[in-house]
Amino acid sequence: MRRLGLLRERLVTEHLDAMLVTGLPNVRYLTRFSGSNAIVVLTASEAVLLTDFRYKTQARNECPPSVRVRIESASLWTGVWQTLAELGAQTVGFETAHLTHRDFQRLLEQGDRFHWRATSDFVEALRIRKDPDEVALIREAGRVATDALERTIACVRPGLTELAVCGILERNLRDAGSEAHPFPPIVAAGPRSALPHARASNEVILTGDILLLDFGATVGGYCSDITRTFVVGAASQRQREVFEVVRAAQELAIDGLRAGMTGKEGDALARGWIEAQGLGGEFGHGLGHGIGLEVHEAPRLSRMAEDSLPEGSVVTIEPGVYVPEWGGVRIEDDVLVTATGAELLTGFSRDFTTLGA
Ligand code: ZN
Ligand code: ZN
Repeated sequence: MRRLGLLRERLVTEHLDAMLVTGLPNVRYLTRFSGSNAIVVLTASEAVLLTDFRYKTQARNECPPSVRVRIESASLWTGVWQTLAELGAQTVGFETAHLTHRDFQRLLEQGDRFHWRATSDFVEALRIRKDPDEVALIREAGRVATDALERTIACVRPGLTELAVCGILERNLRDAGSEAHPFPPIVAAGPRSALPHARASNEVILTGDILLLDFGATVGGYCSDITRTFVVGAASQRQREVFEVVRAAQELAIDGLRAGMTGKEGDALARGWIEAQGLGGEFGHGLGHGIGLEVHEAPRLSRMAEDSLPEGSVVTIEPGVYVPEWGGVRIEDDVLVTATGAELLTGFSRDFTTLGA
């Protein structure tokens, strides 16, 4: 498998005999195994997936022939020590971001049998550039999400609570084919829409309220992430104006984004416009984030992101303006970054729309 080959090249340059992969999205990326308990031991010649009895059939079905599946009846760690010893590995990397302190203690308890080396983001760095089959799954997750949104907004009317709308949305996501919610959907009405990460509440949706929905779908393990902001009933002039600022900012970013730009340059495409409208202080988060097996992954688009966006990365573009006590507007889509531009993976109208009138 190409992915294992790329990680092996990294082991060589880092002078590692082996690496332990304990982050589950990284395990899935390397082996396609989607269960909840696994460790991968990778050396120059072998890839061994250690898991438990519950996943005996699943692991063998999901992993390619180049991955040896080992079912452990006791602790996976017992299997790790045995595998490393069998393969003659001494200098072994572990993932600093995906090892609990308790598991780190287990490494230390092995004494001088192995030399442990901290590694960071070896697999995450590979995951930034998506393969065509990954892009196809994200695109499908985008289609499922927009399909569910279409059906949901047809049911919105004043008097429903945010939670009721959230329930309708979740049901529609499942019906449209979503395997899981990548994160709890955000349904925020009125002044609560000014909270960028509001959770749906018992708040009743009133005529004239802004209604913000931010959610995603999961297909084949890959996520989509989309936000649309509506007004329920008749809209005020101010609501239309703020919406227009955000919509134009997003369009500037979608039109201007290219592979090779830094995350900071990408962020500035939208931020510059919002600042020019006098609303820079109300756009307090980054423009977007990578998306794939996880809903938030590398690369980032923000004022601090110095890394460049490679061709084949998939990111969200989600400018927002949040006015405390009044409300917020965010519009979010997922795009594939190419040498010539940004290709939309989530298609849904970005026109100003009122609901339930
Ligand atoms: Zn989102
Ligand atoms: Zn997002």
